[in-house]
Amino acid sequence: MDIKAGFVGTIGNTPLIRLESFSEQTGCEILGKAEFLNPGGSVKDRAALYIIKEAEEKGLLKPGGTVVEGTAGNTGIGLAHICNARGYKCLIIIPDTQSQEKMDALRTLGAEVRPVPAVPYSDPNNYVRLSGTVASEMENAIWANQFDNLANRQAHYETTGPEIWQQTDGKIDAWVTATGTGGTYAGVAMYLKDQNPNVKTVVADPMGSGLYSYVKTGEPKTEGNSITEGIGSSRITSNMQGAPADDAIRVDDHECVRVVYQLLEKDGLFLGGSSGINVGAAVALAKQMGPGHTIVTILCDGGARYQSRLFNREWLASKGLLPD
Ligand code: PMP
Repeated sequence: MDIKAGFVGTIGNTPLIRLESFSEQTGCEILGKAEFLNPGGSVKDRAALYIIKEAEEKGLLKPGGTVVEGTAGNTGIGLAHICNARGYKCLIIIPDTQSQEKMDALRTLGAEVRPVPAVPYSDPNNYVRLSGTVASEMENAIWANQFDNLANRQAHYETTGPEIWQQTDGKIDAWVTATGTGGTYAGVAMYLKDQNPNVKTVVADPMGSGLYSYVKTGEPKTEGNSITEGIGSSRITSNMQGAPADDAIRVDDHECVRVVYQLLEKDGLFLGGSSGINVGAAVALAKQMGPGHTIVTILCDGGARYQSRLFNREWLASKGLLPD
């Protein structure tokens, strides 16, 4: 018998998919870890579970307690699912610029959703900082704190990294992915380097994020902007600190859209914008490294969450991003 224990037991062990059209074009094996197949629909289910499990183990979260988080989407959705499955309440503080679809999804899952004005991290009313303050003022509540809580990258060190290593039989030349909190990138990069220091670890970065410049120069300078959601950062989170990065690749929105539509039309995969940045970076890396290499990246979430934007031709045209 092969039966999973509820929602939580279904997280992880996702397939590693050969992206046929991109592999054929580059002569490399371009492999995507199918994180959109997690039960909550994204890579963030793994971090959400580790954060809650750690808080339970430390006795910080007791039955009937509340999980508080500042999140723009996928982490909140993962937390809300797990809270339902484990008998907790969930309070999500979200910038009011986020799509109605995400707020509706969170409310449907039973989370209390508090939209707040979008202000920079330096402001104490920033959604992430505010979520910490709110949690500290509540009884039997934890602040998930995904950006600086190392349980996040531990999830990927203990699960995503080993899965990729086993699925490729250790025959992996490079790991490349974009970062939001950095948990996925850092946890997998650290695990792979521990197995084989020759595995190349590369940060993929959208425009408007400071990681590319951080890896190249040591300073997280930002430039431009991006339509992608859930990735990019102007600060080095605790999860990113100490993560090995041999190089960084910047992918702009035009390339992201081209890749997302090729994934849809040639590979049959309906994925969100961060997967476009990731696969675009994997293709650029394949061109740098030359044919015959195996490059692994993350397919973070599905396209349905972006139906009104990335998959709406009028919206894309308004951004000057309609694909050919
Ligand atoms: N893609 C999407 C769609 C996301 O929501 C996130 C998380 N914000 C990421 C990628 C990046 O994951 P991580 O937080 O592990 O860096």
